[in-house]
Amino acid sequence: DLLVVGSANADLVIGVERRPGAGETVLGTDLAVHPGGKGANQAVAAARLGARTALLARVGDDDYGRLLLDSQRAAGVDTVGVLVGGAPTGVALITVDPSGDNSIVVSPGANGRLVPGDVRAAASLFHASRVVSTQLEVPLETVVEVVRSLAPDSRFVLNPSPPRPLPQEVLAACDPLIVNEHEAKVILGGSCVGDRPEDWARILLAKGPRSVVVTLGAEGALVASGAEVSRVPSVKVDAVDTTGAGDAFTAALAWRLGTGESLADAAAYAARVGAAAVTRAGAQASYPTAAEVEAL
Ligand code: ADP
Repeated sequence: DLLVVGSANADLVIGVERRPGAGETVLGTDLAVHPGGKGANQAVAAARLGARTALLARVGDDDYGRLLLDSQRAAGVDTVGVLVGGAPTGVALITVDPSGDNSIVVSPGANGRLVPGDVRAAASLFHASRVVSTQLEVPLETVVEVVRSLAPDSRFVLNPSPPRPLPQEVLAACDPLIVNEHEAKVILGGSCVGDRPEDWARILLAKGPRSVVVTLGAEGALVASGAEVSRVPSVKVDAVDTTGAGDAFTAALAWRLGTGESLADAAAYAARVGAAAVTRAGAQASYPTAAEVEAL
């Protein structure tokens, strides 16, 4: 089984002609509200593929929290680990301009109240999970507690987003650490790392993770473990909306690793899932079933 520990947000989206400056008001389109947050997205993506998936997260006792719980249940996610209360549900206020660029303000809300004690109280979920997948939209001390709570034979997958420097204890547990170009640069501390993603993968691997995956958007991905760095072929599709593609990729990879697949094979499958996700609008709404991945 797959356990996702992470954030759940309501994405509040308004289209604008241009963004307001300080003290200014502009009119936008009707409000659209979508379930989001990296943890919630990953759990839905995995469950839609057919993975037995549980989510450990925290939402507020409010309508957005109920929206998030509903979307998890509709996808078939086990929500026994979704805690309610302590702060309002996390919210992302998103404006989208005509060129498709986003500006986003995130209020972590209840995500910031997912504390190490919540992780310790979920010991039975950890014991039932072969793979545990986490991101950084919850407190770092909670992620540290996740690493300490892993069952002896279970695997830890981390997408460090939003990126920040990681304690050695967390880095050393990653198998793999999954980063895009921006995340790679932050984790490497802005140090000069060469132009080639192969170089970033090697330098990241030398920092302690058991394996590394670098995602490269339309170019596919790289996997690195031991002394080897190999390319994961990209899948050619007409991209409509890349929102949440990275979360779908990570979820698919984590699930396939849990079924015993090699890192290279799991990443190749995940690249197909990521590609399928960019062919439709939205994050969770764009996630494919296993049959849709096969048909790609
Ligand atoms: P993030 O959203 O974290 O920046 P990426 O944009 O690299 O992540 O996307 C994750 C994965 O999804 C990529 O490694 C790739 O396999 C797939 N993907 C993303 N964009 C495209 C695209 N335009 N065409 C095909 N595959 C894509």
